[in-house]
Amino acid sequence: MENFWKIFDERLALCHRALLYRHERLKGTLSDAAPILWQYGAIARLKKGETIDKLLYGGYSTISLGYAGLYECVKYMTGKSHTDPEATPFALDVMKYMNAACDKWTLESNIKFSIYGSPIESTTYKFAKCLQKRFGIIEGVTDKTYITNSYHVHVSEPIDAFSKLALEAQFQSLSTGGAISYVEVPNMQDNIPAVLQVIRFIYDNIMYAELNTKSDYCQCCGFSGEIGIVEDTDGKLVWECPKCGNRDQDKMNVARRTCGYIGTQFWNQGRTQEIRERVLHL
Ligand SMILES: [Zn+2]
Repeated sequence: MENFWKIFDERLALCHRALLYRHERLKGTLSDAAPILWQYGAIARLKKGETIDKLLYGGYSTISLGYAGLYECVKYMTGKSHTDPEATPFALDVMKYMNAACDKWTLESNIKFSIYGSPIESTTYKFAKCLQKRFGIIEGVTDKTYITNSYHVHVSEPIDAFSKLALEAQFQSLSTGGAISYVEVPNMQDNIPAVLQVIRFIYDNIMYAELNTKSDYCQCCGFSGEIGIVEDTDGKLVWECPKCGNRDQDKMNVARRTCGYIGTQFWNQGRTQEIRERVLHL
């Protein structure tokens, strides 16, 4: 455990350098680069030809330290999921530690740093492959082709919607640079009171959360609902219409949340495996 915090300090120092590099890169940008943002009031009302520099300080803007894989980190260090009451405090400590680092950097520089619960989108696959290459296959930690977004409960872990949202709320309030939580739901059209109850719970307990539902469409047979993921003969994950067996991605519309937005493109193998392993929370 001692070694963990030592390595964490080293990694945070590296992140700090990278973020400062981005800050330096932004310095000197002219307001003319995006007039709607910088000159006409969307973000500020600077003069033509003026640099955006003064907006990079004093909390007017933030620079975000993105993180992902809190689940895997906690699993490796404690042998447990961060939903386990014995492991939750460590998970919260990791979040608080990153916040403390951001606060320290902010004090030193007057640049507002904050931590951002990154969905890492397709990078999830790259990260997973890099971890496997470096550390090998560690059961429950590096044995997937994806790593878990931000502070999220692992997608395959059975947990009800309300417990998930209540647990994740603790982490979301420590992810002030940005975060989203979701619950995975089946077709709720015949149970609107349940939808309202979840929304009410979100309103009372967590800042930003959403319901993930499926509204896929097969252009070959007109099927509307959830298009599933199956393994083809060489082990590749492919999308297949449950009604007609269509596997042509150009002839189907699939929508899934892979970050704050609902994406309608198709995803790499790592992200596809993650989507496939999602459990329902309601
Ligand atoms: Zn079909």
